[in-house]
Amino acid sequence: MTVVRLSELLDQPGPSAFLRGVVAGGRYANAYLFVGAAGVGKGTAALAFARALLCERRNAPSPQGGLFGAPAAATPVEGAPAAGGSDDACGACAACRKAGQLLHPDLKFLFPVSGEEKDLDEVVAATQQAVREDPFFVFHYEKAASIRLSLTRQLLRDLAYQPYEAGRRVVVVRDADRMREDQYSALLKSIEEPGASTVWVLTTARVSRLPATIPSRCQRVRFASLSETTICRFLEERVGLPEPDARLVAALAGGSLARALTLRDGRPREERDRALALLEPALRGEPAALWKAVQEMTRFGRAGRETLRRMVEFHELWLRDLLRARCGAPREELVHRDREAEIRRQAEGTPPVEIRRRLLVLEELLRTLDGNVTPELAVFSTVSRLGGERFPRDGWPPHPTARWDY
Ligand SMILES: [Zn+2]
Repeated sequence: MTVVRLSELLDQPGPSAFLRGVVAGGRYANAYLFVGAAGVGKGTAALAFARALLCERRNAPSPQGGLFGAPAAATPVEGAPAAGGSDDACGACAACRKAGQLLHPDLKFLFPVSGEEKDLDEVVAATQQAVREDPFFVFHYEKAASIRLSLTRQLLRDLAYQPYEAGRRVVVVRDADRMREDQYSALLKSIEEPGASTVWVLTTARVSRLPATIPSRCQRVRFASLSETTICRFLEERVGLPEPDARLVAALAGGSLARALTLRDGRPREERDRALALLEPALRGEPAALWKAVQEMTRFGRAGRETLRRMVEFHELWLRDLLRARCGAPREELVHRDREAEIRRQAEGTPPVEIRRRLLVLEELLRTLDGNVTPELAVFSTVSRLGGERFPRDGWPPHPTARWDY
């Protein structure tokens, strides 16, 4: 199993330096809260921190390059202790190996799951196995996924005993905002216990969903979104995606590596071309063709909201390229540079105010898709408005809900 060390966190120099400083100093807060958007490496960092804390001999050099291939010294951070010293997991000792396999008795790892209570053990075991096997494993949650009560109860019973092997125990709780009120109060009691031998590491992308008492008791560590360049390079070098696909996916990922990894399996360029083709009739102002386009898009239905969202986002990226082209951006700044000629031609004939108007319409559609509106209505309304004045008002059957007045 390949694991990530604190010195190898992708594009997170701040948290990496801070956490290594904590490990080197050996003085731990009772609880840490890792805050930042989904998919930027909070969970990876939490486990890396746990391993560094549990490592039996932090002074031993790392036996090999880590997941991100860079030797630790290649990412120097101002003021941080030298990597490979006493501020990171050695990666070689028995404790590191066990923690890397999620088998260390003093490392507890909790994460949200969904499904029947009777299947819980199986789901948890399968997820842990997936995390062990795939360093790029991406957690996907259903809406109702939560950290199970039975698991926190068991955990709190375990915490009554001394750590088994290490001087301290680490509890990593992924997406800690998915818990019930009474779980938080039980957790708070443990966090506040003076002289506790347990270090809590909670992660969340939705800090506002936590009861205020939790963040106020934790030391907060902020994680930034990843840069497009970082994600693009990662996809090319580590996942083996061809450069044009990597660039598209990185642009769509919005700073989240997890999102990029979820998108990697599709065929980004084909999807993009399909998405753009669908809206062409609207932009030409052809009602009949537009009806067909709407039906095509809503074919993805409720289950396909994510697909629909992606298609809209492809459009937004395209429109942003038009704006860039209008400002005279060079080829390498275009996301869709494989269709550069087309972008330049369209940019030529579309004033910026029109591009901006279309972007606003698409933004509104994305917001609508988050709500409970039928996707069909939302798309219908959007697509017609995208066409703007090219659609004669009387060229349409009256529709009570669609808005034409954008
Ligand atoms: Zn070690």
